[in-house]
Amino acid sequence: MTSQRNTLFDAVIIGAGFSGLYQLHRLKKNLGMSAIILESGDGVGGTWYWNRYPGARCDSESYSYCYYFSDEILDEWSWKEKYPNQEEIEKYLNFVAKKLNLFGDIKFGSKVVKMLFNETENNWTIYTSRRTKYKSRFVIAAVGCLSAPNFPNIYGMGTFKGNLYHTAKWPKKKVSFNNQSVGIIGTGATGIQIIPEIAPRAKKLSIFQRTPNFSVPARNCPLSEDFIRFTKLNKHKIKEKMLSSRHGHPFDTNNRSAKSTPPKDRDFIYEKAWKVGGLRFRDESFSDLMLDRVSNETACEFLKKKIREIVVDPQNADDLSSIVHPFAAKRPPIDTNYFETYNRSNVELINLKKEPLQRIAQNGIFTKNRFFYLDSIILATGFDAITGALSKIDIIGLDGQTLEKTWAQDPITNLGIQVPGFPNMFLITGPGSPSVLTNMPRSIEQHVDWITDCINYCQSNDYSLVETTREAASNWLTE
Ligand code: NAP
Repeated sequence: MTSQRNTLFDAVIIGAGFSGLYQLHRLKKNLGMSAIILESGDGVGGTWYWNRYPGARCDSESYSYCYYFSDEILDEWSWKEKYPNQEEIEKYLNFVAKKLNLFGDIKFGSKVVKMLFNETENNWTIYTSRRTKYKSRFVIAAVGCLSAPNFPNIYGMGTFKGNLYHTAKWPKKKVSFNNQSVGIIGTGATGIQIIPEIAPRAKKLSIFQRTPNFSVPARNCPLSEDFIRFTKLNKHKIKEKMLSSRHGHPFDTNNRSAKSTPPKDRDFIYEKAWKVGGLRFRDESFSDLMLDRVSNETACEFLKKKIREIVVDPQNADDLSSIVHPFAAKRPPIDTNYFETYNRSNVELINLKKEPLQRIAQNGIFTKNRFFYLDSIILATGFDAITGALSKIDIIGLDGQTLEKTWAQDPITNLGIQVPGFPNMFLITGPGSPSVLTNMPRSIEQHVDWITDCINYCQSNDYSLVETTREAASNWLTE
């Protein structure tokens, strides 16, 4: 180690996204603690710092996808669109960090690579890739659920001589695809967002689809001044509505069962929900889509019919609608002109189920049947989700036990917040918590408040160590 910080911090927070920023604010402002954030990027935003690919946009509605702990922030910030894009969310988080005076306590370019619990002192030593180390009573991993990119192991990827991009590590400078043949691998929520953006810019776009996906139109639009005024005036009611809902969204739910509704009425309700668009399609149409397979199947049928209506080429329509998973069993993507993009003459769909991807060569991709010449390849291949970011840190707890070994079977936690054997370490929206199944800022605020109360309790009662029991964690896992 070339440099050493001997100061013992009360808390070190890893990550300057939604969760890290709020956690820093609560510890400093409410508990008056010495706390810092270590952040690997050069700016705040977390997942919204790295995922700056064309079309990156949130699927929660902007007025709900923000902090609700501060009336002042809610009053001062006005969203522009129904669904905020990456740029607007990054601006918002910079606005919040400035307003709360957090920048002075964030060390950018500091990637945490190792953490070691000191049993004699009841604190953690945290090592960064910059060869700096920090000591802290508590560590809070605010590393995000979708932050470690998944680079697929495709034979020959390293030999590609063109431009290779991953959506979750998108360059800050504008990327041009003019006059290029572009290949996109991946048709998850990210692929569904980037495909309609790249198609009009590229000479040719080849989309390599392994698994087709449902998608509902987002129906994004600018927000009117009247609506913004309404959200500010009603902020407390909106918060209440989100907190009493199943997924943390401010949606108008009902008790209708899809399977018990006559087909004609059901179709009418689905059509109405399709016109509203977004995640409201799932939550405002029927109440049992996520509880009853037969009801869910009615939504699948409706959505597959929509794909076949939109996509003109019958083979493409068939390849895009041959979906086997239930609707919303994976977080359901929402889109702007996704299926319509397949009607463009410069777009080609390659069904990897029929002709598997074999290898990447210097100038393109070989499938089982064909070669595709490509100037650029975009990997929209997602994340090592939920545990990925933490498993990249060498975390050593009590008795020299590593987190990697502790989680080898199951990512055991209590509440998704604490791990047995790792005292004074907290996770925000960790494995085993509802996390990405919800409107994330609501889950984040709940976890940060819980962690802050717990630390406050320890400090006020002179407890230097807090750890969940194995029994509590195993009960939580099996519940
Ligand atoms: P994803 O859902 O995991 O999708 C990855 C895609 O890449 C899948 O189509 C996958 O196919 C494909 N893929 C992976 N490895 C491959 C390989 N070796 N060969 C061919 N295809 C391969 O990732 P994502 O689209 O980035 O979305 C992840 C999550 O991020 C979403 O569930 C959502 O929660 C979040 N997200 C949210 C928004 C939003 O707020 N609007 C936007 C983007 C993402 P298989 O399915 O066959 O594995």
